[in-house]
This record gives sequence, structure tokens and C-alpha cells, in this order.
Amino acid sequence: MAPTPDLVRLEMQQQQEKKMMRMKKEKNKSNGDRTGAVRLSCKLQILAGRVEEPLPELGETSLIQWITHSITPSAPKGRPVHSPGSPPQPPVRRYYDHNPQTQAGGTRRHRDEYDLNVVKRQRFDSSSHTLSDQMVELFEACQQQSADLIWKETCRARLQQDMQRIYAVARLYLTGSSMNGLGCRSSDADLCLVISGNKRPDPIHVLSDLQQLFKSLSYVERTQLIRAKVPILKFREKSSHLEFDLNINNTVGIRNTFLLRSYAYADVRVRPMILVVKKWARHNQINDASKGTLSSYALVLMVLHYLQTLRDPVLPSLQRDFPNCFSPMLDIDMVPEAPKHIPSYNTRNHSSLGELLLGFLKYYARDFRWDKQVISVREAKAFTKNNSPDWRNKYICVEEPFERRNVARAVHEQVKFDAIRAQFAESWRILQTRKDLNSILPVRAIINKESSRR
Ligand code: ATP
Ligand code: MG
Repeated sequence: MAPTPDLVRLEMQQQQEKKMMRMKKEKNKSNGDRTGAVRLSCKLQILAGRVEEPLPELGETSLIQWITHSITPSAPKGRPVHSPGSPPQPPVRRYYDHNPQTQAGGTRRHRDEYDLNVVKRQRFDSSSHTLSDQMVELFEACQQQSADLIWKETCRARLQQDMQRIYAVARLYLTGSSMNGLGCRSSDADLCLVISGNKRPDPIHVLSDLQQLFKSLSYVERTQLIRAKVPILKFREKSSHLEFDLNINNTVGIRNTFLLRSYAYADVRVRPMILVVKKWARHNQINDASKGTLSSYALVLMVLHYLQTLRDPVLPSLQRDFPNCFSPMLDIDMVPEAPKHIPSYNTRNHSSLGELLLGFLKYYARDFRWDKQVISVREAKAFTKNNSPDWRNKYICVEEPFERRNVARAVHEQVKFDAIRAQFAESWRILQTRKDLNSILPVRAIINKESSRR
């Protein structure tokens, strides 16, 4: 069968990336491995005389953090703001990296090689070829870019420094889709402020203090305190209009961000698949927990569950296969923010993206037993509801992989639940016949909207 355009494009992209990696390695043997964007950013900072050379030997995310700490106005030059005086260090020990994962063959594969192999092995049948193409196009146009992450990290570092005027030892973490590999260019930035100590502070109290503080910060606007089960402070960065959601000590978000990131990179199809599902759900108004529908987090878990439970699974249970890496007991400082080496999964499933999207809609339209089953990504299966208050009389049950609570509890009205189910059924029906992504969401309009947000 002739290779399809997206297969060719992905392969070319992979080859180009490999070529660039080789060139980078040759050019920067003494400086170690960095991405183009980060290196460019480093160079710019060096040219501007704002960071010290030589650059530290850090992974991409830590390097970004190091750069942005270094360029924060009053930070000591070249030092992370949260550890003044110490030499530049990665903020976390790369526990995950120190546990080499072997796969079936016993050897450890590089991610580029892994991606290329999976893409090569993918089978694209003619019916879902256009659909797969459209999904790749949407993904490529909307996915978060390195520059977006650098900007978010710059804001995080600046905010942390200002917050430390009140909470001297607090640390601010970037979580959610900004860090888990599932973000769009327009995604908000989720933040978790970790205030350690014997006495757990009242989140509302802390957020009220911060709301006061933010009034004096020239770069922050539109602060709004949301007194939800997990209280958050919403605000916006003035120049970029970047939206933030800040919580206090809700550290499970740091753990599950790493888990989701590991799933996101475990198979090359996961990220485009999830991005398209998020766009589809948002367009069809079933992706807003504040309005009684699904949060993005619940939706992502629903996609992962579907990919785990296919006859030939696309994903395993990472918590079952790598319990040490995802232990809920792991000290929060030891949770890596970005695993360098992704545990690869030897799947026999070669379905195209289009086939997977159709299968996902069908699964929740027809096969999944909402009244009886709980979605568990932790166990890579659906288990039968028991009498626990988390599942009893709940319309949708999606288990949080660490806390084991229901992340879909926002769906508490029959009418909203019916709308969600109807949307799965309707989109499946339409997409089955049309095999055109535009029949269930306006691809061009979404791409244009995303571009205008930059
Ligand atoms: P988007 O790109 O739409 O902003 P997101 O991945 O950031 O998507 P959100 O639903 O905004 O998803 O949630 C942000 C993060 O907060 C999640 O990635 C997760 O880490 C955490 N989170 C959200 N809901 C829960 C929950 N019920 N239990 C535990 N953690 C949660
Ligand atoms: Mg978010």
C-alpha cells in the first residue's frame, strides 16, 4: 500500500528531527543535548548578556527553568530564584531517568527511533486516511510550542519570586496541559503553590492574601477567587492575556501531570488523538466542568482508558508496569516534570488516527456501561461500581489515578449527562458516514482561532 501523506509527512519530520539532533550533537558536544528553541533562547540571552556561560548540563525543561530564573529581573544572575546562592541545579532529581526501563526485547530505545518505528508500522486504510490527515493537521497547528512553554515558565518564575515575599519557602509548579504534552497554543497555565510545613494552610486564606498581593503587581489583572472544592485563584497576565489557575497544595496535580505526560509520549498517536477529542468536546460544549460537563482532565482519562482497553491495547497501565515511578508516596520534589526516556509499549495495534477516533466515539456511544462501570486508567480497565459515595448515583465515574476519587463529579445533572451521551452518539453516526473531521468540528475555524490567540 502506498504511504499516505500524513505518514510521509510524519516520517519526513522524524528524519529531519534526527538530522537536526545529529547536527546539534556534533555542534554542541561540550554543551550536551538541547532543543533548537531552548538553544536559540539561550543564545539570545547570552547575546543580551543576561546569563552566564557556560550553560548548565540540564534537560530541556530544567534548562528552560534555569534560563527563565536567570532572566527574572531581581534574581541573582544565573541562579534559580528558589535556591539563591547555590549553583544551577535541576529542581528535581530525575528519578525516572535513573531507572532504565527495558522493553520486551530487553533493549532501551531512543524516543525518535520509537516514534519512527510506530509511524512506519501504522496502517492507514483509504476510508480513514483523510480523517487521519485532518487530525494530524489540526494537531500540528494547535499544539503548544516551545516558545509558549518558555513564556509560561517566565511568568511562573516571576510569580514565584513575588509570592515568596509573603510565603518565603513556597514553590510554584506549572502543571496541567502546559506540562503534560497535551496542551494547545491557547491552553491556560495551571499552577500549584506548594507551601510545606507542619500546619496545612487554609487554601482560601492563602489565595485571599495572594489576591491582595496581585493588586500591586503591574503584570497581573482580572483576579477572581473561586471557592470550589479545590479553591483556585484565576488571573491573567496583562501583556499576553495568558490565563492562570492557581491552587494551593493540591499536589496530586503534580503527580498526575507527570503520569499524563508519560502516557502522552508512550505512543505517537496519543497526543494528536487527545488534542482532537478536546477540540471536539469544547466545540460541542461538553468540556466545561464549571457548567456541569466534563473537565479536560476527565476527557483525557476517558481517551486513555479507551486506548488501554482495545483488543490490542495502544497503551498499558503505566502505574501497574512501573509502580516505583508513579508511587503516590514519592516525595513531591522527586516527581520528575519531564521524563527524558519514555517507557515504550510494544503494541500490536496499528490502527490509524481516524480509526481510533471513530472507535473512541463508538465506545462511549454504544459499548460503555455508564450505569455500571467506573473508568480506571490506573488498572487499565473498567471496574464495576461499588457502593462508595464516589460512584453511587453518579452519572459518569472516572477514577483519579492517585486519589481514586471521581474526576467527573461535575456532571451531576441528568440533562447534562444526556447531552454528553447524545453528542458521542451523534458524532459517531455522522463521522461514520462522512469520514470528514469537518462534519463534527470546524477544523479551519479552530486553526484560525488558535493562530489569532498567539
Ligand atoms: P486544558 O488544556 O483544557 O486546560 P488541562 O489538561 O490543563 O486541559 P484541566 O481540566 O484544566 O486540564 O486540569 C488541569 C490539571 O489539574 C490536570 O491536568 C490535572 O493535573 C489537575 N486536575 C484537574 N482536575 C483534577 C481532579 N479532579 N483531580 C486531580 N487533579 C485534577
Ligand atoms: Mg489547563
